[in-house]
Formats: sequence, C-alpha cells, structure tokens
Amino acid sequence: MRRFIIGGNWKMQVLTIGEAEKKAQTLATTIENIKCVEVFIAPPFNSLVSVKQIVNNTKLRIAGQNMHYIEQGAFTGQISVLSLLDAGCNYVILGHSEPRRIFGELNETINLKVLKALEHGLKVVLCIGETAKEREEGLTTEINNLQLSECLLGVSDEQFEKIIIAYEPVWAINNPYLNPGIGIKPATPNQAASAHKMVRDWIRKEYGHQIAEKIRIIYGGSMSKNNARELLEIKDIDGGLIGGASLTAESFSPIIRIAEELSNDNE
Ligand code: PEP
Repeated sequence: MRRFIIGGNWKMQVLTIGEAEKKAQTLATTIENIKCVEVFIAPPFNSLVSVKQIVNNTKLRIAGQNMHYIEQGAFTGQISVLSLLDAGCNYVILGHSEPRRIFGELNETINLKVLKALEHGLKVVLCIGETAKEREEGLTTEINNLQLSECLLGVSDEQFEKIIIAYEPVWAINNPYLNPGIGIKPATPNQAASAHKMVRDWIRKEYGHQIAEKIRIIYGGSMSKNNARELLEIKDIDGGLIGGASLTAESFSPIIRIAEELSNDNE
C-alpha cells in the first residue's frame, strides 16, 4: 500500500512568526503518536526557519509554497530553491491554482520549477486541476492531462519517485478569489475517484505500470474531518493537500488521524 501523505498549506493566512510557531508546536504535539502518515506543513516564507526549529525532532516536515526556477539573481519577490533548502524544506508545492489562476503562472514555468526542485532533491507536490467552466465544457481530462504532460516534461523515471501529484479541482478549493460567484463544495467521492484514476492512467501510459502504482496522488479541495474518510478510503487517493482546515490542530489533526487509522486497517 502507498503511504498516506497529508499536507497543510497555510497560504498567506498566518501572518507572524509567533503565530506560525505556536500552530506548529501545537500540531506537532497533537500528532505525536502518528506513525504511518507522512505529514508536512507549508508556512509562509518568513516563518520557515523558525517553524523548522520547532518541528526539528518531530514527525512534521516543512514545505515551500512556491519557488523560482533560477537559483540566484535579480528576481524581486521570488524565492530560490537554495533558500528553501537552507530553511530546511523537504518539499515544495508547485503549480497551485492560486499562482496559476490568479497570478497567471504557466505550465512551462511550472515545468522549469519542477526540474529545478528535483535537481536539488526536493520533493515536489505538483498541483493540477480544472475550473468549474472547464469541467462543464467536458474538458476535465484534457486540461489535467495537459497540465501533467507540460509540467512534467523532462522528468526522468528515477526523479519520478520524488513527485507527488495533488489533484485539486479549482472549483472545490475554498477560495472566493479563485471561484467568484460559485458555490464552493468538495468533489464527491465519485468525482474524486474518477479524476484520480484518470491521473494514474496518464502516469501508467507515460511512465509505465510500476511508477504509476508507486506514485502518490493526493486530493485537495475543501477537505475536512467531515469528508476525509470517504475520500481517503478511495483506492487511488493517497492523502490530501489541505488549506483552510490545516490552520488549526483541531481541524487538521483529525484528518491525519483518519489517514493513520486507514493505514492500520490496511496493514
Ligand atoms: C488548497 O488551496 O490547496 C486547498 C485545498 O484549500 P482548501 O482546503 O481550503 O479548499
């Protein structure tokens, strides 16, 4: 069985280092007994170093929320892979719908970032997903396959073990800036199951059966303690990328616990 991975994306919601430290400390204590699940949090850049110190001897790992594809230079507002590594990151989230759909990040740019992160040994959580309009127009498979093929261009079989795909239908992400005027709701188990199968089928076709069976495909989009079990029980769902519900240990740790229970059930 693939090991569950649960990530918390704190976005720009935690504004001070003190607040980030407190949240990380509480979460680390709350999930002390978790044995089977890989867990990371992605705090804002300013608190990475302090959070890393807090979680150093715990099971929690940290992730960058994005990075630039060039290592050093005159790039105002960007962060280098070398800085993420220096801060102690093990993962980086790339291709998230917010930079894609709000700030115009392109598959080609994301691809350069994926290759740079892999070159330096960072694990990549590559987000893909269609908008409500694209789904309505019957473009779900086409959009996701295009994002996969363009963002993963040039990734070798060996490098693929450092890739985690996060299927995050844009319409399910709890973000009114991404989804103006539409009711945001999580994917149903059926919608999620068929999308995850579609992603695994694409990987099987491009990278072969062995890699497709190994790679973790996690779900993101309004995941909470209320729907985590029905989603994580699905064969092709290997974890979750969680935004809003990752902001407190109270809402995040039950999701991690459900993943732990399911891991034990499946042993
Ligand atoms: C996300 O932005 O990756 C996400 C899944 O957010 P939320 O859980 O708040 O929908």
